[in-house]
Amino acid sequence: MTKVEYSFSEKKVSYYFDASFSLLQDLVPVATTVLITDENVFNQHKEKFEGWKTVVIKAGEEHKQQSTVDYIISELIKLEADRKTFIVGVGGGVVTDITGYAASIYMRGLKFGFIPTTVLAMVDASIGGKNGVDVGVYKNLAGLIKQPEFLLFDYSLLQTLPNEQWVNGFAEVIKHACIKDALLFSILEKFTLHDFQKDETLLADIIERNVKIKTAVVTEDEFETGDRKLLNFGHTIGHAIENMHQLLHGHAISIGMVAACNLSEQIAGLHFDEARRIVQLLAKYHLPVDIETDDEKVFQVLRMDKKRNSSVMNFILLNKIGEAVIKPIELEVLHQHLKEIL
Ligand code: NAD
Repeated sequence: MTKVEYSFSEKKVSYYFDASFSLLQDLVPVATTVLITDENVFNQHKEKFEGWKTVVIKAGEEHKQQSTVDYIISELIKLEADRKTFIVGVGGGVVTDITGYAASIYMRGLKFGFIPTTVLAMVDASIGGKNGVDVGVYKNLAGLIKQPEFLLFDYSLLQTLPNEQWVNGFAEVIKHACIKDALLFSILEKFTLHDFQKDETLLADIIERNVKIKTAVVTEDEFETGDRKLLNFGHTIGHAIENMHQLLHGHAISIGMVAACNLSEQIAGLHFDEARRIVQLLAKYHLPVDIETDDEKVFQVLRMDKKRNSSVMNFILLNKIGEAVIKPIELEVLHQHLKEIL
């Protein structure tokens, strides 16, 4: 196990790499801690929750809604949680997002930590303090930024993760490579998903490399006024189609990344010409690279996107692999290009 502390504006967050779930009892008092997890994680790892007060929510993005927050709050009241109670989210991004949010509003805020159990939650969702819920089809519309006290990485939890969820998580890994790390991109080209699933050292290395990329971007720009926006590469169109088509998050952003690459090739001023290489890598990691969709509906959802600023949308595009840029694009220009890029 290695402990690394990262400084965010509000506090230092401790990251426990290559740790075991059982370390939790050394980090928080069992008697005054409540774990929040979903039914899949709970059923697959029941023995780990023994002795801990636990709230189990329904699994899936469709439950990342205010009604589940209300349920968590009512369970916390039943468990007599007070201002000294510590909350730990054990699960994928849905659990970590909703746990951080519920913990931050219950009694105006309790301390919380995360044990991410999906690749996506390990390399992305659990890092950076963005917590919240969806409102209808609008992703993450209600929420806040608040850092957890700690992140505990137990890679053995991934042994029960369904294959499609590995694929889902590697979409974010590929995203990190595209925007920040050309060497990571080459490593991903060299290996296969199966290699990472079978080789613990390879897996630990790639997860830590990605955790560091996300953490570096976030600590430099915690409140998303600059570089943190780069992490939205593929997400603008991705989020629009995710709920419309009930896609896995990673599948949606894979298609969103291809659209952003196509847009990068078509927008004047950028000389990006590596869309093909990115499409090949996404396909190699079993990710979808296009979709049959209703462009008009996608456009209507995009217009409501919270990142929109009047008639212009800030899009994350690529100069080259490993180097992303933020470009304002007129909504009307986007409207015209949508058919060709999707
Ligand atoms: P998820 O939490 O829905 O987990 C995926 C599925 O895997 C679920 O069915 C879950 O029950 C199951 N699961 C989780 N861990 C398991 C395990 N170890 N073994 C067996 N099954 C397991 O989805 P996700 O892909 O982890 O996260 C997606 C969510 O993350 C989205 O809501 C997205 O908005 C959010 N997200 C947030 C941020 C952020 O910065 N806060 C960043 C990226 C994504």
